[in-house]
Amino acid sequence: MIVLKSSHELALMRQAGRIVAQVLERFREVVRPGISTLDLERIASHIIEREGAIPSFKGYRGFPAAICASINEEIVHGIPSPERVLEEGDIISLDVGAIYRGYHGDAAITLPVGQVDGEVQRLLQVTQGALEAGIAQSYAGKRLGDISAAIQRYVENRGFNVVREYTGHGIGQEMHEDPQIPNFGQPNRGPRLRPGMTFALEPMVMMGDWRTRTLSDGWTVVTADGSLSAHFEHTLVVTNGEPEILTKL
Ligand code: MG
Repeated sequence: MIVLKSSHELALMRQAGRIVAQVLERFREVVRPGISTLDLERIASHIIEREGAIPSFKGYRGFPAAICASINEEIVHGIPSPERVLEEGDIISLDVGAIYRGYHGDAAITLPVGQVDGEVQRLLQVTQGALEAGIAQSYAGKRLGDISAAIQRYVENRGFNVVREYTGHGIGQEMHEDPQIPNFGQPNRGPRLRPGMTFALEPMVMMGDWRTRTLSDGWTVVTADGSLSAHFEHTLVVTNGEPEILTKL
């Protein structure tokens, strides 16, 4: 069942989203060669707690941290560690979730570490563009498949691939609510979008093949072929007009 949110609930989700956005904004400032993913974890925890929120990932199905920090061929669910120190030319995907008075915000960005190759830069741009293509379909009266199809088309037309096993999702009192929102699919299928629906859209894009595997830590998902991967995510609400992005400042 897809839960429609009241204006009171949306006010809380706006707060949760703003806190997530603050963390990501800080990451844009501090990500550079020499910083560890544990440093980033500490920055995120500090901001989330200072703002009166709770890190939603920590303890979720046993995940041990407040953020997912996934480097290069890691797609998602990388665990922060003092041993993972960023190097010039890396890319890092940072996924953050916060709960504010019972409501969730969830967003992700992929950042270059120092200078990256032109093709890597293009991977980041295409992934961000895919998120925007999904947002551009998030209008009342459209259907869920329109979002999925737009993301897939945007990415594949530019020579990259979308993840199959991990999807966007409804969000609200739970981090993962109905519906699942695949990053691939057919237009004009699935539930019709209505004002008050809240979605986390999150294309994960790989330069190579879409197949994945999970490392022996039980969490970190990598591309099976070792190709680079990027991830962008926003939480939004469908309205009577333009979709409102809840995870931006
Ligand atoms: Mg998410």
